[in-house]
Amino acid sequence: MVVIPVWPFKRKKPQQAASTLVDQVYELVENNRYRTAMDEILRRLRHDPKNGQLLNLAVATLDSSRTSTISSPEPATRLQRASALLAPIVTECSGCHDEWYSSHNILHPHVTLILMSPRALQCQVCRYTLCRDCLRPAQRDLVELPERPCPARGCGGMLTAPVLATGRRNFSPIDPDTIERIIVARDGPIPPSMDDALAVATRFVPIIADDAPLIRIRPSSPGMMNDERSLGRLAVAIVQGLESEGVLAPGAWERSRSMHVLGHTLGDADYLMIVVRKLESAAKPAWPHDVASLMHDHTRRMLHQISTKGPGECWSGLGSRTMVTVTMQLLDQAYHAARRSGGVGTSTGATGNYAIAATLVLTSDFESARDRFAGGYLAYCLDLIGRLQQPVDKQPPRAFVHWIVTVANTGTKIDTTVIPAAGSEPAMFAWDLMTSAERQQAGL
Ligand SMILES: [Zn+2]
Ligand SMILES: [Zn+2]
Repeated sequence: MVVIPVWPFKRKKPQQAASTLVDQVYELVENNRYRTAMDEILRRLRHDPKNGQLLNLAVATLDSSRTSTISSPEPATRLQRASALLAPIVTECSGCHDEWYSSHNILHPHVTLILMSPRALQCQVCRYTLCRDCLRPAQRDLVELPERPCPARGCGGMLTAPVLATGRRNFSPIDPDTIERIIVARDGPIPPSMDDALAVATRFVPIIADDAPLIRIRPSSPGMMNDERSLGRLAVAIVQGLESEGVLAPGAWERSRSMHVLGHTLGDADYLMIVVRKLESAAKPAWPHDVASLMHDHTRRMLHQISTKGPGECWSGLGSRTMVTVTMQLLDQAYHAARRSGGVGTSTGATGNYAIAATLVLTSDFESARDRFAGGYLAYCLDLIGRLQQPVDKQPPRAFVHWIVTVANTGTKIDTTVIPAAGSEPAMFAWDLMTSAERQQAGL
């Protein structure tokens, strides 16, 4: 026995919901004009993205449109269905990641009916969801789906109904009014049309078709999106190019966030999308004065972590006065370089048996610090090691230490990568700045 959604548009017009938009949408839906109805809803959601009534109206309209698509002169479009504004109300199958809008979300709590031919079942404890295809791959036409224990590890719940929204995570919850530009490039020699660019942008950024003037389409060349490193280079080149043309305000890279949209997501080619925030909402960081004490604390914590294996020569010298003095000088230079480049500055040096690199990252929040390393942190780090470990003379190999100070609107943070010269001593990586793929690559 499961629950069936109550269909707000197939009944008499609801008495209590008397707002103009509800009336307007009701009338449009009655006439099967779902596209226009969705345009109205999305236009309002853009300015009020958390409005529950608007989200409910969207679910009801999309569900209605799905069931009468053939007869409708104006079905809801793919672009509307995929809108990032609707990401919080998407239900996603935990098995195959198929997405849909479940009308169970707008169910009245006291209505219980038998649900014929349910589209999916969901765990009522952890919201693990399986669609019909994943539940019964061999017998799709069966009307009833058997309830079963939740397959999520450690969860004792049951897969049953209602099936509520799980949300879609791969979108940027940014306020559209803080965006300066959205740059869209497509893999290959032919630039995308504005319709193609809008399909990418509206799926991942909560904007609507009316926001098309924010979008800039840039050409790419074949192969530039084959790996993250070339993609990072392409992103930097595009942003710096637009900045020199005067399309973007100075220091645009510092305010940029790039996203690699893989071809299979849209059934199209690979895309690069860069969202550039407006100047006034960007970080205006100043030189952090507490770096020496941050270094001190961080070193102590790292020593504590490796103490089980016993610190060797490299680790015991890490907190020395010389190390702090040299690093502070390098960080000061890195800070000025970061101000000039609008994001990341690095300065290198050496003392005793250490090769030292100091990087200063200026960013809005710690989360996005990783994006500042265009080709990824690991590649950046390996590049530094390569440059610093050039065999100039017959010196013994040096330990490599990379200090990364991130200055964000929310505070200052320090990360470190330490690779001792002797293989017997443990190494440590700036974990926070690495993606899971990079961690795997580094054998972590
Ligand atoms: Zn599925
Ligand atoms: Zn569960």
